[in-house]
Amino acid sequence: MFIGHYGVGLALKKADKRISLGLLFFAVSFIDLLHFILVLIGIESVEIVPGFTKWIPLTGNNPISHGLTGMIAWSFLAYAAVIIYGKIKKEDSVSSRKTAMIISLGIFSHFICDVIVHAPDLPLIGYDSIKLGFGLWNYPVISNALELGMFFTGLIIYYKSTTGDGFTAKYGLIILGIGLIVFNILIGIIPPLENVKITYLNMLVLYTAIIAAAEWLDRKRI
Ligand SMILES: [Zn+2]
Repeated sequence: MFIGHYGVGLALKKADKRISLGLLFFAVSFIDLLHFILVLIGIESVEIVPGFTKWIPLTGNNPISHGLTGMIAWSFLAYAAVIIYGKIKKEDSVSSRKTAMIISLGIFSHFICDVIVHAPDLPLIGYDSIKLGFGLWNYPVISNALELGMFFTGLIIYYKSTTGDGFTAKYGLIILGIGLIVFNILIGIIPPLENVKITYLNMLVLYTAIIAAAEWLDRKRI
């Protein structure tokens, strides 16, 4: 899934406005960022299999990032990291626990979103375990309607939960959203590069830029 993840990130802002949108976008896309890095350093792999799903022709061995057990572990680790950070910063333990819960929920939401659209290639645990995935990417009209619906719902929740004056505060996220929608369509239409590592390097840069843009735009609103 691509743009649907950001819908979850936008919606989570309502749960606690102290958490920046950049951090929420980082949480919901953390599993993909990790996957890109693990592929680039040769620990996980990905290959182009034409027709693997009608929308996205990529599949791979990705148990550390995209395995169910892996994603549960990353969610717990993130929870612990936020709690430790809160203790170092001497933050109130109730609000620290709330932040930790929202961040780890954001990370785990990645699995729920991905398992809906992926054809079975999300391992339960380890390379050779059962692979999960309901394969909605084989029905691109439905999968895109779902992803765009999630994004718009998240965007509405975000705008209702925050406020801001000025052009950037009012329209910045809408402009970013239009860019994300265009990219969401392009990734299904343009075939991936033969060299998947170059594609992933570009994706790593793009995902990081999206997080940075969300962080900057979020600071314009309160
Ligand atoms: Zn993913």
